[in-house]
Amino acid sequence: MDRLQIKKFNDPVLRKEAQVVEKVNEEVKKLASQMAEIMMENEGIGLAAPQVGVSKKLIVVTTNPEKGEFSALINPRIVKKSKQKIKKEEGCLSFPGIFLEIERSKEVEVEGINLDGERVNFTANDLLACVFQHETDHTNGILFFHRLSFWGKIMFKIRHFSIKF
Ligand code: ZN
Repeated sequence: MDRLQIKKFNDPVLRKEAQVVEKVNEEVKKLASQMAEIMMENEGIGLAAPQVGVSKKLIVVTTNPEKGEFSALINPRIVKKSKQKIKKEEGCLSFPGIFLEIERSKEVEVEGINLDGERVNFTANDLLACVFQHETDHTNGILFFHRLSFWGKIMFKIRHFSIKF
């Protein structure tokens, strides 16, 4: 496999719903470790497969940046969201140089399959909750600027008119 590259800005792969992963095989495991490598090289805290041009529901999230630890989640789903929100500045490796204040749920329940093929379900809070929401959105073709407020979207479209919304 050629070295994977980060897909950026107007690449259509970023805007379509990715395919469900049917089987956790060696190919999926290899893809997850390559994604983790790219994420860490670029000092990202999360990366979704469509961002490297692979339209599959697979995400990696950094759990311990110092130790290079990450966790991979297949077919991720946010099954519960807290009413309580937090606002944080988010970046995205597919949109270098753009940082946006995005409001998301402070606590989420996440469901999916791990690299051992087991069904997992856990709660994420604060920053990690935002990362799981951001990356799960990617697997559905939803980008961080789609989560801006009404006026935020208008401002974004004016400022970044060359980016396909
Ligand atoms: Zn992103």
